[in-house]
This record gives sequence, structure tokens and C-alpha cells, in this order.
Amino acid sequence: MIIDFATAKKNLQHNGFLDIPVDPSLDLFAAIEDLKKRKNAIILAHYYQEPDIQDIADYIGDSLGLAQAAAKTDADIIVFAGVHFMAETAKILSPQKKVLLPDLKAGCSLADSAPPELFKKFRDKYPDHIVISYVNCSAGMKALSDIICTSSNAEKIIESVPKDQPIIFAPDRNLGAYLVKKTGRDMVLWNGACMVHEIFSLEKIMKLKVRHPKAKIVAHPECEPAVLEVADYIGSTTGILKFTQKDDAQEYIVVTETGILHQMQKDNPNKTFIPAPPNNACACNDCPHMKLNTLEKLYLCMEYEEPEITMDENLRKAALKPIERMLEISAAAGL
Ligand code: SF4
Repeated sequence: MIIDFATAKKNLQHNGFLDIPVDPSLDLFAAIEDLKKRKNAIILAHYYQEPDIQDIADYIGDSLGLAQAAAKTDADIIVFAGVHFMAETAKILSPQKKVLLPDLKAGCSLADSAPPELFKKFRDKYPDHIVISYVNCSAGMKALSDIICTSSNAEKIIESVPKDQPIIFAPDRNLGAYLVKKTGRDMVLWNGACMVHEIFSLEKIMKLKVRHPKAKIVAHPECEPAVLEVADYIGSTTGILKFTQKDDAQEYIVVTETGILHQMQKDNPNKTFIPAPPNNACACNDCPHMKLNTLEKLYLCMEYEEPEITMDENLRKAALKPIERMLEISAAAGL
């Protein structure tokens, strides 16, 4: 059945993407490169995207790097190969630009674990606290926050707040608990978590360690405390990537989303990277939201300029303030 643009657009909210068939003989890499030039578009991709998308992106990074890239690009169109809150962040920072997301349904379990209306009631119980929110949250949550942080800059952001100022940290309880330990600040934590980082199996990681005794365990701070206890290095995706570039070990057990292994292997072709297994039958741990984006959907959204991220201007302005605060503190700290 031939699906025309009008029909695909009508079904966009239901499907999340333009469900238009793509000619299988089309060279998608060449077509996307051509669209980038013709439309002055830039593709920003998260490290958790599939390898083909990472390879065609103009910029690959973690949440902080992607926000910084979105803030300074002079492209007319930002194509965000990541999840919904990331594309929203790009729109908040660059309202005059068209921001496209290949699949609107690419959400985030962590962002969903903090509905703004519930969080507002929680925040109201602590009127003397300021709110530091991890960037993995909706625009509505950002608008209720004082400062945004990412896993790359969270420690610096917390340290920038006077010691006698109480803090609520949201939405990730594992990252929050790690930061309480790291900074010595007794923060009130919102009880949210990432479905991907929460289900790593400590038992299976330890079995891998027995089979690969020289392998170093590198983990993202969204993992549960018991997993972080056994890690040789804990850091953001960029932090983990840099660590494995500089470190002299030859093998690593990587406890974060498997998409990062593509860049690790490219940067260190002689090293071995073993994805840590989750607590189910799978051998590695993909984020189902991140992996909704495909090269075909990326091509379609660039060709037809849909789905587009739009936002109420009052909400955008309220969400912008805490992001700008984060970018200022990060720049002052040289991050
Ligand atoms: S890996 Fe976790 S935090 Fe990242 S997008 Fe997926 S669900 Fe959200």
C-alpha cells in the first residue's frame, strides 16, 4: 500500500513518525548528506544511538555536549537523534530553529518517572530548598527547577550552591545517592530511575569479572549503588569514553547503554569492550527509547521536516532559566 504524506501526517501522533515507505535501493547515507546541505541542517546524536546514525551525525555527545552544541549551532534545522527531552532541550535553547526528532515516541523512562504536577506537590513540601534537576526530565520539570545538571557537571553544579542551602535532587535517585556520597551534601531525593541502568545484574557482572580478571569495570552513575561499589571508574558517557582512551587496561566491562561501545571500539580498536548484561535473558542492554530512531526515520524526518518539536513560549522561557544557569556554571568550571 502506498502511503502519501497527508495520510502519514494524519497518523503522526499515533505512530510517532512518518510511516512512508522508503525505497530499499536508496543510498540513505548519501540522501541524508544531501538533505543536510540543501536544508542547512545539523544532526546531533547521542552516544546511545545505533552505529549508522552516529556515523552520519555532525556531532555525537552526551547530554551536556549536545545541549552546548544545540546552543551554538548556526544551522536552520536541528535534527536530534536522541530522545524527546533532548530535542526539547534543543528547542528551549534555540527557539528560532526548527527542531526535528525522528520518532516522537522516543521517550525516556527516567523523564517519565517525574510528572511535573506530582513533583510540584513534592517541591512545595520543601519551600526553603532549591531544586537541581538532572537534564533527563521534561520541559515541565525543568520549569520547576532552579538549576539543571548532567552527569558530566553534576558535582560542580552542587558545589556551586552555598553549603547552608538545602537541595532537592531530581529525578534520578541512583545518581542522587551517588552525588550525596561524592559531595557530602545531604540532598532530598526524588524517587525516579532509568529502566536501562537499573537492571544491570551485579551477579552477572561479577561472573564476567571472574572470566576477565584484568578487565576494568566502568559504570554510569545512574546504575544502582551495589553496581557502582564494584566499579573501577564511574562517570558520564563522555567521562567513560575519555577514561577508556587514556587508561592502559586492555579490557573493560561497560556498565551503561551498549550504543557507547561503537565509539569506544572506533577510538580504541585494539582494546576489548564487553557490554555488561542486564537482569534478564539478554546479553546486552539497549535503551528501547533511544533505539526507536532508525536511519530510515532520520531520512524521512529530514525530507518532510516532521515530526517537529514545538513548545509553549511561557513554558520554554521558564525551562530556559535553569538550563542557562547550568551552562554558565559549566563554562566557569571549564567543562
Ligand atoms: S538510557 Fe535511561 S535515561 Fe537514557 S534515554 Fe534511555 S531510559 Fe532515559
